Amino acid sequence: MAIYLDNAATTRPSSAVIGAVTHCMLEVYGNPSSLHRMGLDAQLLMDGARKTVASALGCDMNCILFTSGATESSNLALRGAAAAYGKRRPHIVTSAVEHASVRSTVDALEAQGFRVTRILPNAEGEFDAKDFINAVTEETCLVSMMLTENETGRILPVQRAFRTIKKRFPDVITHCDAVQAFMKLPVRVNDLNADLISISAHKIHGPKGVGALYIRKGVRLLPIVTGGKQERSIRPGTEAMPLIAGFGAAVEEMQPSISDRFAHAKHMKECLLEKLAKIEGISINSSPEGTPYILNLSVQGIRSEIMLHFLESKGIYVSSGSACSKGAKSQVLSAYGIPDDRADSALRISFSAETTEDELTALTEAIAQGRAQLIHK
Ligand code: PLP
Repeated sequence: MAIYLDNAATTRPSSAVIGAVTHCMLEVYGNPSSLHRMGLDAQLLMDGARKTVASALGCDMNCILFTSGATESSNLALRGAAAAYGKRRPHIVTSAVEHASVRSTVDALEAQGFRVTRILPNAEGEFDAKDFINAVTEETCLVSMMLTENETGRILPVQRAFRTIKKRFPDVITHCDAVQAFMKLPVRVNDLNADLISISAHKIHGPKGVGALYIRKGVRLLPIVTGGKQERSIRPGTEAMPLIAGFGAAVEEMQPSISDRFAHAKHMKECLLEKLAKIEGISINSSPEGTPYILNLSVQGIRSEIMLHFLESKGIYVSSGSACSKGAKSQVLSAYGIPDDRADSALRISFSAETTEDELTALTEAIAQGRAQLIHK
């Protein structure tokens, strides 16, 4: 049996999700744009999923656009808002620890001529809302901040920063990558003061290849893909019906148990920290105030990939930093001031409601064994 501790990379689809995807493929395979009954059935199924996602975010269903995942959601949000609002205000504010889907998109906008301010954490490795607020000027069109950072699990002060920014500069568009927070922390559009929010299904036991973008009413985005009238012509193309049905099922299943699952993850993180404290040479790269779902640690003297494959040989699956960085040097850990040798040996352990204490015992025993065997290699 695999011990899967890489839930920030992706999660195991639940039976309810697989059931919803299969049901849609077998029974509701009409095109929601078709005018006949089978089209209408598909439209109704999609409306149901849209309502479920909207209700989880506390917004109207018409504010939810389905996409192929959070990477597309954030591309559409940032490129679409920059094109709509950036001509006279070509300045963007973002954090230095964004996921590649935001980071690379902002880099691309910078190459097109936008001026970018990237906010760094303070000496304690935490973000201060004031740094984001003070960076915004009359020239700013867009502020993009993630809620839960995906490598160490730090939580950024999005709510505080966006509240003041929107009060002082109501025309600035605020975007939040809430992928690692959705269904884990409360993510409500009005609390966050976000105009745009990116979320993804496969991080919450839904299918891969589907996500959503929340767009506050009145916010204009220029589409990045042109085509038909689907998704209000902002994101044209026949909707990925089975995946959307699976996304709806995942949210429906997760929504009632957010606080129970949070408490479980918190217990798992505390339990793991306690076990790790008994092993020599372990440094913790996560913040005690971060999400309980992610713990980033370094095993002194052993490169991440070496330990990752050692653990894999024992049937334990973890990540070296972020899955998207695929072994490249972590810009996020450097931003927190973590020295290169420690960053080179970083492992990310990420929990789900399925994680058990026995699995964490197996993990810590394997880390201790790996350290003893690998340290002099
Ligand atoms: N944003 C964050 C914080 C993530 O962790 C990820 C996935 O790794 C993404 C965005 C990208 O999501 P998707 O895989 O749906 O494109």
